Amino acid sequence: MDNQTEKVQILIIGSGPAGYTAAIYAARANLKPVLYQGIQPGGQLTITTDVENYPGFPDGIQGPEMMVHFEKQAQRMGADLRYGLATKVDFSSQPFKVWIDEEKLIEANAVVIATGASAKWLGIESEQRLNGFGVSACAVCDGFFFKNKEVAIVGAGDTAAEEALYLSKLCTNVHMLVRRDEMRASKIMQDRVKDAPNIKIYWNTETDEILGGNTVEGVRIKNIKTGEKTDIPVRGFFVAIGHTPNSEIFRGWIDMDGAGYIKTIPGTSKTNITGVFAAGDVQDKIYRQAVTAAGSGCMAALDAERYLSEVGLH
Ligand code: NDP
Repeated sequence: MDNQTEKVQILIIGSGPAGYTAAIYAARANLKPVLYQGIQPGGQLTITTDVENYPGFPDGIQGPEMMVHFEKQAQRMGADLRYGLATKVDFSSQPFKVWIDEEKLIEANAVVIATGASAKWLGIESEQRLNGFGVSACAVCDGFFFKNKEVAIVGAGDTAAEEALYLSKLCTNVHMLVRRDEMRASKIMQDRVKDAPNIKIYWNTETDEILGGNTVEGVRIKNIKTGEKTDIPVRGFFVAIGHTPNSEIFRGWIDMDGAGYIKTIPGTSKTNITGVFAAGDVQDKIYRQAVTAAGSGCMAALDAERYLSEVGLH
């Protein structure tokens, strides 16, 4: 074994709530976990502001601060946390091979994939500039800050429908921007959106610009068919055009659905490869909450521990 190869008991890939929780549990079970943090240490919560729905923080907590707590806790338990990005895997046999930053090779008896997902964005300048200042990709996280205010949401899938309905219960009016003349969401969700008295749907409509200097003050929309532009005064702008699971390097090894979400055996964190487990948003397109990700990270560590003792490696 050259010095670019290292043998570990359990490798955790990813550093959001799922990865760190798996690390805490694995470290306490004396599995000496090694965790690689990826390109965004701390994950999606590092780009949010207040987190008010994570139990145990009665006054809420800032997302980045919460992830520092997760990290410190994993470290205190003895997890080996490292910078580095998993770039290639070979799961054909035990031990599993994972390359970090294209050069270092880790050989692991068990692997927990907790690489998360990334929200898709429109890609316009004002969206980036006002991100966190009225622009959000998560209504359940940030909707509360727009209570009794007017908001817009872009998207027409089940997530957008669900989030528009969630916002309609908090906000005075929800302006839903749909780029085609129909929605992709399931019929029942479409019907609910259409029946909500304070959701207004704008068909064939795209976002021209989000207005405001330091915070969102409105949105300029454009009718794709007529070219006509209209300004709507809103304080919040929600983007719900889908997520991309960060699962690309596992393609060909791990079973996924059409969108790239890793398939796990229901009620477990087990993937199609015995000894490889998945937790958090990379395998969850429904709930996508910090608390559910943390819960599934715990499941992955417990499943891995059980697996390692069953095969006599722990
Ligand atoms: P989807 O990919 O289903 O929908 C994305 C939506 O965003 C589409 O309507 C798409 O428009 C629109 N969109 C994409 N890019 C742009 C853009 N640049 N500008 C404007 N609009 C854009 O993603 P979801 O997150 O909604 O759902 C993902 C999966 O999760 C689906 O399978 C869904 O059914 C499932 N889901 C299930 C839930 C449940 O069962 N409770 C809840 C949430 C999600 P277009 O239609 O024109 O392509």
